[in-house]
Amino acid sequence: MEKKLFRCGWCGQPTSKNGEPLALSQIRLIKDMAKWNAAKLVNGKCCEKNPVAVGHAAIQEEITEEMLKDEGV
Ligand SMILES: [Zn+2]
Repeated sequence: MEKKLFRCGWCGQPTSKNGEPLALSQIRLIKDMAKWNAAKLVNGKCCEKNPVAVGHAAIQEEITEEMLKDEGV
């Protein structure tokens, strides 16, 4: 039975299905990096207080646009 893996989509921290960061001992149980690469991305609790993560897509788009404007000067 394949156990599904989850990771924070913001920082890449391995998490549970609910976005709770996993303990290092739990992370070490999965040694196959390919499995982590295939992990489902979730909003991790580790980044919940991060303003980018809170509003996620919308705010991130704004930031990207502003960055592009700055680069275009
Ligand atoms: Zn995170």
